[in-house]
Amino acid sequence: MSLNKKSVDDIHVKGLRVLVRCDFNVPLKDGKITDENRLVAALPTIKKLIQDGGKVILCSHLGKPKGEPKPELSLAPVAVRLSELLGQEVKFAADPEVVGPNAKAAVAAMKDGDVVLLENTRYRAEETKNGEAFSKDLASLCDVFVDDAFGTAHRAHCSNVGVTQFVKTSVVGYLMEKEIDFLGKAVENPVRPFVAILGGAKVADKLNVIANLLEKCDTLVIGGGMAYTFLKAQGKEIGKSLVDDSKVDYCKEMIEKAKSLGKELLLPVDTAIVSEFPNPIDAPVEVEYVSVDSIPTDKLGVDIGPETCRLYSEAVKNAKTVVWNGPMGIFENPTLAKGTIAVAEALAETDATTVIGGGDSAAAVNQLGFGDKMTHISTGGGASLEFLEGKELPGVAAANDRD
Ligand code: ADP
Ligand code: MG
Repeated sequence: MSLNKKSVDDIHVKGLRVLVRCDFNVPLKDGKITDENRLVAALPTIKKLIQDGGKVILCSHLGKPKGEPKPELSLAPVAVRLSELLGQEVKFAADPEVVGPNAKAAVAAMKDGDVVLLENTRYRAEETKNGEAFSKDLASLCDVFVDDAFGTAHRAHCSNVGVTQFVKTSVVGYLMEKEIDFLGKAVENPVRPFVAILGGAKVADKLNVIANLLEKCDTLVIGGGMAYTFLKAQGKEIGKSLVDDSKVDYCKEMIEKAKSLGKELLLPVDTAIVSEFPNPIDAPVEVEYVSVDSIPTDKLGVDIGPETCRLYSEAVKNAKTVVWNGPMGIFENPTLAKGTIAVAEALAETDATTVIGGGDSAAAVNQLGFGDKMTHISTGGGASLEFLEGKELPGVAAANDRD
């Protein structure tokens, strides 16, 4: 799928005020950024606009300040780190109204090639309600709007959708283009065999992802917490494993659907079991491996077993395209990360195009040290999931179409 939207390559910004919606929603601990992937991912668009002589005004949300200023969720630390990454000053426009007197003055003082960062857009209550006043405020700061916030693209908020109603030119940035290109190609036009691997916590979170990927893929591989609801649907005893009881019938339907579509559906054949959910999550655990036909009633499944690891790695080996969402077990615990590591290793070794979507999946792959072995790791958790559901993302839809 190629994106039929205008991009930063289709506009001339020399001397113009360009408002860029980025995704600077980074994890912070004691005022320090603990993962700067999203900042790095935003650089190509920002650099291009600086080089072209635009006045580059950046904006983003950070966390959930719920419509009022919260100092611990200020974007100030992002301005400091971005200045270092860009090698030029990013002026922070501290302003409780986001677009208030301070921000307006900062923008008015800009020269071509300057960069200003606005305060957390969610300091304004209208932001998440897509209210008109804040959308107009944002629009009043700029001549051109660029949306490069893939991580927010599944939401219609002022700073990515509302603002486009009041700006004549709205285009997408390089990160947005890249995300849609990789995810879109993998799902809509995959080189086959296409293997989709789904895991994570619950079936209920991913009903539409399961259904959509089953249509598109050749092989659907299920692991993680959601696997046990499928095993229950097969009539197996799953003990105290995570289960969505109201989704057992749905899983039965999916198993039937796979058969009728002639798709391969792989479920675990063995599993790691423990007596209690680890608390804290990375506490030492005593683990046993059993066939999925002999899970004791007082135990719970917390990872795929070694035989399943082999089976899933084999499926990946034969693939030309792999899309992966959701860890295979409680990967936060080193003893229960083996299945997730095995799948990550299989993806790292294959020549297939490998695309990772989902917040915890991306974190798992990076944390386990496989980040640079993947073709693409999406920066958008929720957005990549909605994309995998086959939904249109409002943040993308709002940009101007190519002529
Ligand atoms: P993503 O964010 O990549 O879409 P999810 O949020 O759906 O992934 O799932 C990630 C969570 O699933 C992790 O916190 C992990 O501990 C949990 N999980 C994986 N396997 C199990 C399991 N067998 N039982 C309980 N939780 C699990
Ligand atoms: Mg998650």
